[in-house]
Amino acid sequence: MNVVVVAAHPDDEVLGCGGTMARHVANGDHVTTIIVAEGSTSRQTSRDSKSDACNLSVLKKSGLRANAKLGVDDVRFLEFPDNRLDGVHRLDLVKALEQVLPDLQPSCVYTHSAADLNIDHQLVHEAVLTACRPFPGQVTHTILCFEVASSTEWRGAGSAAPFVPNWFVDISAHLEAKASALQEYAAEMRAWPHARSLESLEALAKWRGASIGVGAAEAFQLARHLR
Ligand SMILES: [Zn+2]
Repeated sequence: MNVVVVAAHPDDEVLGCGGTMARHVANGDHVTTIIVAEGSTSRQTSRDSKSDACNLSVLKKSGLRANAKLGVDDVRFLEFPDNRLDGVHRLDLVKALEQVLPDLQPSCVYTHSAADLNIDHQLVHEAVLTACRPFPGQVTHTILCFEVASSTEWRGAGSAAPFVPNWFVDISAHLEAKASALQEYAAEMRAWPHARSLESLEALAKWRGASIGVGAAEAFQLARHLR
């Protein structure tokens, strides 16, 4: 089975579904990660500086190493501007995905929940749903939306439908790989009690696991399933 993970920024794929990715790989599935935006440059006041280029190449290398820890060696970077996807024509975003997805023939796609505070996450969610719309012959049968600690839970009450998971993946055997992959994104991680700390991510995995009676899990919302 071919699986594609579409993440807005480098680190979102591991935060959202790193354990599930490792589990797919262990099951013999082929996993591809698509990272839509650059990451990190939104922290600068302007783009295009030499330091940006240097930060980005460091971040890309982190992305490759993190995915390798999960057993994923196919990582594609679309290099849209970080946290500025609302300045990109929606059609360009959809087209960029439509250029990559047909070759990959994914039967299952993981991406962001629309219930995130981060604008890039919201826009990537919509772009994936659009690129994978169920036209005749569509091979993508399942679209699952993940949560990203430090974004999904930060959306204000009433500003969007809340993230209520209805799909859980037992990652008890893969939590260690997820934590190890997150360590490759050390520059993106924060110290406890920040929501994007290793301690918080482990606590979330255990809470999602406890919700379904296993040691650790990742939680998703099913956006579409075709049978
Ligand atoms: Zn992100």
